[in-house]
Amino acid sequence: METEGINKMMMEVREMADAKGFSAGEERIWEMLALIHTEVSEATDAYKKGADLDKVGEELIDAIIRILHLLSAMGVDAEELYQKKMEKNWSRPHRFNTVRGG
Ligand SMILES: [Mg+2]
Repeated sequence: METEGINKMMMEVREMADAKGFSAGEERIWEMLALIHTEVSEATDAYKKGADLDKVGEELIDAIIRILHLLSAMGVDAEELYQKKMEKNWSRPHRFNTVRGG
């Protein structure tokens, strides 16, 4: 696993979470998935209530941190998955999978 890009961020998050007492065992995967939703909901709520975009962004960063923590718990090579997915997305046609291109 290369320790650059997303994997570097993932390891930074894992180091902090470990230091702060938040475990990343496989038994927590359901909980960690749910916590990602809560952060996206917090961003949605902040935006709905007219919060400044820095606040909305902070909540989205929370979501990214939680996603990175979960990816570390899953033991996957996030950088490789990201690069493969980007390659796949670049290979898709313009406005892929849209019915009318709304
Ligand atoms: Mg939050």
